[in-house]
Amino acid sequence: MSPLLAQNPALEAEDITTLSEYIAYAKLAHGYSPAVNKLLDLSEDYVPGAERAFRAGQKAVWCNANNYQPVLLYSLGVIPVSYGEMGRYSQRNDMLIAEDYYQFPVETCSMVKCTVAQWHQRAHTGTIDKILGNCSSCEPFNLAWEVIRSEGYDIFNNEVIYRGPSVKGERLEELIQFMKEQLLDVAEWLTGQRAVNDDNLKVEIQRKNRLLTKLRRVLELRRAHPFYMKSLPIILTLNIGLNNYFGKPQEYEAAIDELILELEALPIDEKELKAVIPLVWAGGTGQEFGVYEAIDQSGGAILGLRSVPFRFYREDIPPLEAIARWVYDNSNAGAGVYARDVLDSEVERLKARGVILYGYIGCSFASVDREMWRRFFHEKGLACINLEGSFQTGSPTGQVLTRVKAFVEMLAA
Ligand code: SF4
Repeated sequence: MSPLLAQNPALEAEDITTLSEYIAYAKLAHGYSPAVNKLLDLSEDYVPGAERAFRAGQKAVWCNANNYQPVLLYSLGVIPVSYGEMGRYSQRNDMLIAEDYYQFPVETCSMVKCTVAQWHQRAHTGTIDKILGNCSSCEPFNLAWEVIRSEGYDIFNNEVIYRGPSVKGERLEELIQFMKEQLLDVAEWLTGQRAVNDDNLKVEIQRKNRLLTKLRRVLELRRAHPFYMKSLPIILTLNIGLNNYFGKPQEYEAAIDELILELEALPIDEKELKAVIPLVWAGGTGQEFGVYEAIDQSGGAILGLRSVPFRFYREDIPPLEAIARWVYDNSNAGAGVYARDVLDSEVERLKARGVILYGYIGCSFASVDREMWRRFFHEKGLACINLEGSFQTGSPTGQVLTRVKAFVEMLAA
């Protein structure tokens, strides 16, 4: 236990029930690292900070805030605000709003129900009122933006982004042209002008490439210091922060620079390297933060993640085209095999001992991919665990925690 935790006996992992308590706990547990604390602060203030900025006159839009969206939106002077991050504010009441008021079937994915209920409670309160949807998400979300439109939100949806594994040549060029038009559609919706500013877009592409390079450095340094930054902050920093910078690009980059300096100054601890159980996380950002604590307590370290955008944007072609090409060259381009290949290369690179597949109850969309990946790794002889968790706030079920601990301890044995 860190000295800071020892001074705060009231804050023990076992007693925590809310996500904000987990973040407070993670800050104490990383009391030795100003950089990790800054990243956790940025994560905590992401949604409130964006809503404050909006009220102060800045443009902001709800979106999934990953993939190409932050690059384009920041270039247009718009803060991309991840609606997925509203999950941490959700309570049981959110489920009731979705099920009773909007008549979502009980078995609907909890992420969609939480998001709709959060938008419902924010409607007509003077906060962010535009939603950039994405038809590639899933059917429950397609339903979500349709029902919430009736609450006065201005909704815009991109068409489906999908590149089949065999698509190349002329067909790929058609898709790229189609994507460029879609990017201009978004710009027109947000600014009233069907145009982007190439100089601003270049700045954002350069920022993204620079940060990808820095985060790759962090991932390499973590192999030598696997327990310095534990599971919760690393997932938030990579899955959320690297995509959208928590709404504050300069502060995020400064915290990453500080983290690199901290990691570079650390002496190697051979005992730590012998004890670590390297894991790859193959899921989104689970809102049951206790799962991460269970991994940490069992001696596991999440050293690789599927969702990290590994590919650089091209800087040798016009920026709008660079975004369109990046979209179709990325592991999010549609077919599950792209993400599986990323996972496989992470497993090889890290010599991972296990893969944690995490998804939400009621998600038929991603459960097919997870099952495919589980079978692929089992055939290669690698241990996998397939977890289904809940999106809304609250502590994870005992069953999920027991399974996580048993899995990591099995790998240790
Ligand atoms: S968890 Fe699955 S069903 Fe739920 S929003 Fe995400 S993709 Fe859709």
